[in-house]
Amino acid sequence: MDEKVGTCSRCSKTIYCKSGFLNGTILKEGKLICFQSEENDIEKGVCPPLR
Ligand SMILES: [Zn+2]
Repeated sequence: MDEKVGTCSRCSKTIYCKSGFLNGTILKEGKLICFQSEENDIEKGVCPPLR
């Protein structure tokens, strides 16, 4: 079951929770970000991931 969680704060892509697995990351400020944007941020050194 896909449950819409919200939209990516970088690229506005819709983020779903698929069978209990979130296809994105929640940043410490509470924003949602998709994996692709998270990778881009890490490459640029903009926003270090929470983990
Ligand atoms: Zn994104």
